[in-house]
Amino acid sequence: PPVDIFDYIVFGATGDLTMRKLLPALYYRYRDGQVPDESRIIGTARSPLSREDYRARAEKALRSFVKPDDLNEDTARRFLDLVHYVSLNGAEADSTWPALKSLLADAPEDRIRVYYLATAPGLYGQICENLSNQGLVTPQSRVVLEKPIGTDLTSADAINDGVGKHFPENHIFRIDHYLGKETVQNLIALRFANPVFERLWSSDAIEYIQITAAETVGVEGRGPYYDKSGALRDMIQNHLLQVLCLVAMDPPGSLEADSLRNEKLKVLHALRPIAPEDVATYTVRGQYARGRNGDKTLPSYLEDLGQDATSTTETYVAIRAEIHSWRWGTVPFYLRSGKRMAEKCSEIVIQFKAAPWSIFPTRPDANRLVIRIQPDEGVTLSVSTKDPTPTDSLALRRADIDIAFETAFSTRYPDAYERLLLDVVRGDPVLFIRRDEVEAAWRWADPILKGWSEDKVPLELYPAGSWGPAAATALLARSGHQWHEDMV
Ligand code: NAP
Repeated sequence: PPVDIFDYIVFGATGDLTMRKLLPALYYRYRDGQVPDESRIIGTARSPLSREDYRARAEKALRSFVKPDDLNEDTARRFLDLVHYVSLNGAEADSTWPALKSLLADAPEDRIRVYYLATAPGLYGQICENLSNQGLVTPQSRVVLEKPIGTDLTSADAINDGVGKHFPENHIFRIDHYLGKETVQNLIALRFANPVFERLWSSDAIEYIQITAAETVGVEGRGPYYDKSGALRDMIQNHLLQVLCLVAMDPPGSLEADSLRNEKLKVLHALRPIAPEDVATYTVRGQYARGRNGDKTLPSYLEDLGQDATSTTETYVAIRAEIHSWRWGTVPFYLRSGKRMAEKCSEIVIQFKAAPWSIFPTRPDANRLVIRIQPDEGVTLSVSTKDPTPTDSLALRRADIDIAFETAFSTRYPDAYERLLLDVVRGDPVLFIRRDEVEAAWRWADPILKGWSEDKVPLELYPAGSWGPAAATALLARSGHQWHEDMV
């Protein structure tokens, strides 16, 4: 069903995120009849552009990032009619705000307003203060914050305090686009609609769990930004911990936002702290060196950064996390993320315990449930079956029970932003991060970063195009475990 009429005001509207993700996502929702025609998308940035200039950029974004088959000329034209532009410096107190004020004054006061902050996070507090001083924060206003919310607990608190002075917590939508991914939400369905899994979802039956987000790309043009962040801040502290929460949490009482978020928070609080002196035992950090992909030479991270660059920023992380709770005991949760890896894949692997005894000539493989987040979203359960070849004994063979969602449901898989952008209009924060979650995640990540900054574990080089440093294989081998790609 369509949402209520809204004004979406995007700060940072000429940037990469707006062009690549936000405008295409809003187009798809408009095409599917969920965005009322009276709604407006108001882009703002400092660049002095006319409405026509900006609409031309928006049109180019649709042509680049919407699948050609999905781009209907007439629909795109009507969508572009919703698009406005105001040149504005969000960091400046006065001079540039009147144009936005007068545009917003054209709509009724009670219209839903979404202020989407897609600028550098250092500006979030300032922009909110200006919105408030200009009288633009109405009871129906919400604010969306893009990642990263800080680089540690202290800076995250500063951002949250700055925004929190002007918006109540239930009007602050901290986006983590992993939660908008269909397969991540499907985890909730898989776990809590299918008792067959939930009954086994604990240390009783599960040996270990892996959560991987691997990219084949390097830092591309974003080197200077990435170099200040690194893989732990960019991927683990937010996206992978959120996935971990959904994998590990207890059943929430309902799908109401705080019910779910309370359960996620309990997981974050139960994470075993990794002190700076323990980083060598529980973490591996790596950086890609020059490597090969077939005939092609892949540059190192330092070469990607530019001439004579030096850096100890990690482009790869593997961590053995534990959730100290009655359900999980000391079951390892191996988290890893890296750039320039052998394959692009985000997935969760649930490795069940092996049968306690075998009556077969060979020992049956332990069951494994693989939840593929991307690409090829789906779920695979590997089971042992009888080998159909007639022999004198009952030999086993492994086979997969496999659901590939796109073929199973013959439907397009929407981009994560499509769901999330309209959830903000609906006022439903269930798939957004509450302040205490951000804080708990930084409280866990900060001591690891401290240990690394004190070089308590070496930075391992790995060839670009590989599965990461050998130390990451050793991290699992200590407990007799293996990464998914090494399993037969
Ligand atoms: P970007 O391409 O550098 O764009 C930044 C935008 O902010 C531009 O539109 C810029 O336009 C505007 N801006 C800068 N200073 C401003 C000011 N004082 N007042 C108003 N507008 C200002 O950055 P991005 O990649 O789109 O990322 C934006 C935010 O999203 C960042 O926080 C980033 O971490 C986050 N994010 C991005 C991605 C992604 O895929 N790109 C993914 C996740 C999160 P003018 O120069 O014209 O002002």
